[in-house]
Amino acid sequence: MGIIKTKNLIYEYIRRDDEGNVEDIVKAVDDVSINIHAGEFIAILGHNGSGKSTLAKHMNAILNPTEGTIWVDGKDTSNEENIWDIRQAAGMVFQNPDNQIIGQVVEEDVGFGPENMGIPTKQIWERVEESLKAVGMYKYCKFSPNKLSGGQKQRVSIAGVLAMHPKCIILDEPTAMLDPNGRKDVIRAVRALNDVEKVTVILITHYMEETIYADRVFVMDNGKVAMEGTPKEIFSQVERLKELRLDVPQVTLLAHELSRQGLNLPAGILTTAELVEAMQKQGYLRA
Ligand code: ADP
Ligand code: MG
Repeated sequence: MGIIKTKNLIYEYIRRDDEGNVEDIVKAVDDVSINIHAGEFIAILGHNGSGKSTLAKHMNAILNPTEGTIWVDGKDTSNEENIWDIRQAAGMVFQNPDNQIIGQVVEEDVGFGPENMGIPTKQIWERVEESLKAVGMYKYCKFSPNKLSGGQKQRVSIAGVLAMHPKCIILDEPTAMLDPNGRKDVIRAVRALNDVEKVTVILITHYMEETIYADRVFVMDNGKVAMEGTPKEIFSQVERLKELRLDVPQVTLLAHELSRQGLNLPAGILTTAELVEAMQKQGYLRA
């Protein structure tokens, strides 16, 4: 079994009127069966309202399935007794860094998690240092968080989760509120967690270009996993992605259009460098 596995997972939000009668039911996750292996870098794409956050909230037992099952590190999240283990195995980073940082000083903030876990003080400081180094924020350890940029704050939040030594980190649109530089730094830090620290990463985003380095990409639509594959497999299906209302990167659209016009280019080009190289190879551009 993978580190996160779901079987026919369904989640319904039920809205009731003042008398408690059911007014409306939204099936936010609709029969999702996925299996994520330890060490994988998974990206979940999907337009607003496709069910990404609802699915993510099952991954550390913030929500419990209406039907079906989810196991995190082999443990069924609907069993109350497993919650402590599950929250330790799977840490969550949210969109808004301001809601996640509570410490007055960066290092203190990062230390909260391990402190709550009852880790001895000396080890807490080791973990704080190692986690801040992993996200490139160690030199700010004595700073006040409100002196930091959005991207820096978000990396501190990631360090806070990392300090709990989770097997898996789930990041729900961690770059949505950041400027382009902040986004780049956060994505770089997330890649390093996976590459260097071997943490399983589940990155939820609606920016396609942030998913280039994922091992696998899931695309959600209407509560279902509509597509699954490597980034190349996913991004070569431009028409399908447009149907699923995703923002396809400009360079991917351009390469797709050039191919349609008869140029011989591989499908699923994601970066300018890749396009330039492919064009040079075909002699459309001089090297
Ligand atoms: P995403 O993260 O992909 O934007 P969500 O999981 O937030 O999607 O939402 C999926 C669906 O569930 C949407 O139709 C949304 O309106 C609905 N939804 C989300 N949260 C709630 C809630 N607390 N109560 C009722 N409906 C909700
Ligand atoms: Mg969301």
